[in-house]
Amino acid sequence: MAAPIIIIGSGLAGFNTIKEFRRHDTTTPVVMLTADDGQNYSKPMLSTGFTRNKAADELVMATVDKLKEQFDVDLRTHTVVTGIDVDAKQVSLDNGDTLAYSKLVLANGAKVFEPPLKGSGLDAVYTVNNLMDYRRFREALEGKKRVVIVGSGLIGTEFSNDLTNGDFQVHVVEPAGRCLPTFLPEEASLAVSGALSELGVTFHFGPFAQEVEKLDHGVRVHLSDGATIDADVVLSAVGLQPNIDLAKAAGLEVNRGVKVDKFLRASHPDVFALGDCAEVEGHVLLYVLPLMAAARALASTLAGTETAVKYPAMPITIKVPACAVACAPPPLGLEGRWEVEQDGHHVKALYYDTQDQLRGFALTGDAVKERMALGKQLPDLF
Ligand SMILES: Cc1cc2nc3c(=O)[nH]c(=O)nc-3n(C[C@H](O)[C@H](O)[C@H](O)COP(=O)(O)OP(=O)(O)OC[C@H]3O[C@@H](n4cnc5c(N)ncnc54)[C@H](O)[C@@H]3O)c2cc1C
Repeated sequence: MAAPIIIIGSGLAGFNTIKEFRRHDTTTPVVMLTADDGQNYSKPMLSTGFTRNKAADELVMATVDKLKEQFDVDLRTHTVVTGIDVDAKQVSLDNGDTLAYSKLVLANGAKVFEPPLKGSGLDAVYTVNNLMDYRRFREALEGKKRVVIVGSGLIGTEFSNDLTNGDFQVHVVEPAGRCLPTFLPEEASLAVSGALSELGVTFHFGPFAQEVEKLDHGVRVHLSDGATIDADVVLSAVGLQPNIDLAKAAGLEVNRGVKVDKFLRASHPDVFALGDCAEVEGHVLLYVLPLMAAARALASTLAGTETAVKYPAMPITIKVPACAVACAPPPLGLEGRWEVEQDGHHVKALYYDTQDQLRGFALTGDAVKERMALGKQLPDLF
């Protein structure tokens, strides 16, 4: 019997790959290997749990049994892939088994940066990058009131709004000096942090969180400027890093992510990658829209019709109900200028390159309604 297609990972990248593949091919065997519990959920919902009043179990969209039946996939949970032999076309598992594949799809996501913290209270520090993390975080919050969030990027900022909506007292520590620094120009950052401050969030812009000290009740977070914040729970949200170790150890080309071409093909012809682990034609985009486009193209290629993925500009909606945010950050390092119009929390910031072409935007408040129209004016990524 021919070896199956193997997909490593059951997150949105793995899930959309099997879903799209079964539209083309209902017979080729597919094995999906996942380190987690394999339940299907939408990761963006993790940072809106209190706003939408959803506990971890209510975020499950399909159980493992349902997925196996719906997509005729041999889904193996709590199974860690420990190695890939691209010449022998097989993967090794943490239980000592090896499994042969015909084609291999890496959909193994990204890992959270370890919080740069020391101290006796690290047990109270949580990170959230999957449903199991979220379940633990929600349990830790039971009966508690005070949360310190380390980092005010997309995830930290979304959680600051969500936890405040859940009646927590939220402090945010961000050394960069403003919220969403890699997504927004200063005026838009200030609009968002202003709206969140009005909601009740306390920001500490400038210092680093350095130490978490255990107290009789809760913890004390020490900042680099000497200030301290007492809290019950700390959420570290200092960024994500594509998982490249497996691919690198297998001799596949990696850079910031696993390097793939527009066919999602890695440096070995039978290995593909998409989602948070992948660097597609030089782009590392840790969002849902790119992985969905990639899954559609890859499914078609795996089913026998070589299909390139196209990346149009894909604006990001940041889920801050206190002050709506949509943005399409300009390409890194692109020379140009921001032009900003502002009316209170409503900011429309447009980024033009040196040829006066629109290359990015940041919108807050009512200006968000221009998101679609502006998105259409941006050039494709490739
Ligand atoms: C709180 C939060 C909110 C977000 N909100 C948005 C949003 O609003 N909009 C948006 O576009 N994006 C958002 N994102 C980003 C988006 O959710 C991710 O880009 C996307 O879910 C990544 O999917 P993935 O399948 O590539 O990775 P993951 O979901 O990380 O899946 C990786 C899978 O690989 C498995 N795995 C890893 N290593 C191994 C191994 N060695 N062996 C076996 N299995 C392995 C894991 O168990 C897991 O099943 C958000 C992210 C977070 C954390």
